[in-house]
Amino acid sequence: MQFSPKSRVIIITSATLILLIVMFMYFKKAVQPVQIISNPNTANIILTEEFISQNSSNVMTEVQNIETDAAPEEIIGKQEKNNFELVDKHDFGNGDTIIGILKNRGFELSEAIALSNAIDPIIPVKLIQIDDQIEIYRSEKDKSYKIILITKSARIAVIKEKGVYRADLIREPAKLNYVYRNFLIDDNFYDSSIRNDIPEPILNKAIELHSKNINFSRDIRAGTESRLYFTDNQSFKTGENGKFELIYTSLSSQVINEEFFLYQTTDEKKNYYDQYGVGAGGMKIITPLRKLTETSKYGMRIHPVSGEEKMHYGIDYAAELNTPIYAIADGVVDFIGDKGDFGKYIRLSHANNVKSAYAHLNKFSENLIKGSLVNQSEIIGYTGQTGLSTGIHLHYEIIVNEKRINPNKFDEEINNYFLENEQLSSFYIEREKIREDIRKLEQKSTFQ
Ligand SMILES: [Zn+2]
Repeated sequence: MQFSPKSRVIIITSATLILLIVMFMYFKKAVQPVQIISNPNTANIILTEEFISQNSSNVMTEVQNIETDAAPEEIIGKQEKNNFELVDKHDFGNGDTIIGILKNRGFELSEAIALSNAIDPIIPVKLIQIDDQIEIYRSEKDKSYKIILITKSARIAVIKEKGVYRADLIREPAKLNYVYRNFLIDDNFYDSSIRNDIPEPILNKAIELHSKNINFSRDIRAGTESRLYFTDNQSFKTGENGKFELIYTSLSSQVINEEFFLYQTTDEKKNYYDQYGVGAGGMKIITPLRKLTETSKYGMRIHPVSGEEKMHYGIDYAAELNTPIYAIADGVVDFIGDKGDFGKYIRLSHANNVKSAYAHLNKFSENLIKGSLVNQSEIIGYTGQTGLSTGIHLHYEIIVNEKRINPNKFDEEINNYFLENEQLSSFYIEREKIREDIRKLEQKSTFQ
């Protein structure tokens, strides 16, 4: 394509013009003075944590584009190692701006602007009030500095690292308000909770936990009791919801009784566990035999009898004749009897859409029929070689949501987690502490 000299001039002129406009806009934005609101009562200046964290995460996303290492929370801790010393402190007065304050203390205008711009996405600098504070720290080690802005609702630190300004909130322990509510469900859990002033984040968490095991439309009848214990962060303006955290939830009636407790393990991971230390939707299973001698894995294999390449949907364990077979978890007998190549076969149905199956048995335990309840570790039968089998062994399957999975991958398949040993003992202590807190709060509410 050819341009005539005339249009070439037009193109160059417009490009220059656009460039100038962009530069002007950028500069105008950068040096915009910070306004101080002198009457705090007329301005909605107290920020919710939600607002702050939303804005904070925006900044961090941008920062992470530049800086690949260091999580946002690391900024502060890392900087403390630089031995920063407080060198100056200033309380905002009428007409003060971050840029002005820093400039008066010898900062280059461009640096002062960059610092102010780093703070702005977290707390808009125009919302800074009289009596908010700014602290300036300097490190003798590498001559770098750190700025801390302290407002009524937040503390923000800004540092310069590898030429990039990074700002982040310094979180202070918030004042927590503990709330306990119990009520009888009269129609459905959701509506009853809303009527009883349960904050939505708490309600959603409780539903998420209980719905793993409880069928809400089938199992929750009018009269089911709900008990919820949670924190409500009160360091924010009245009427605005701060941060809520569910500590305890239970649903109980004649047919259901499920509790979940918030518990932090020693590796600092917080999670919800039921009264036995098992995570929502999880289950602690045992092995079907005392001694496990795996002779055939789950997966594709050449069938030992037919010689065909076939999928093996379970695990084979070699055993002596009449070795006891144990129920891997509490359940109900779902199938018991002869089942073609599987010979004498028994299948148990457990919670969470999990089933377990045992094949080639020599005999079943007496008194077991379809529908019998069995407890975990109860003997359900004895090994044999009925059906299509080359020797005495147990063929064992686990079925999750109607799919036969690798029994050795059970925990991964259902996202299973639970506490054991010392973790379980300390969980029980925490569980009793929470129950005790609730008992006290229940007494309080009866006396009022
Ligand atoms: Zn098998």
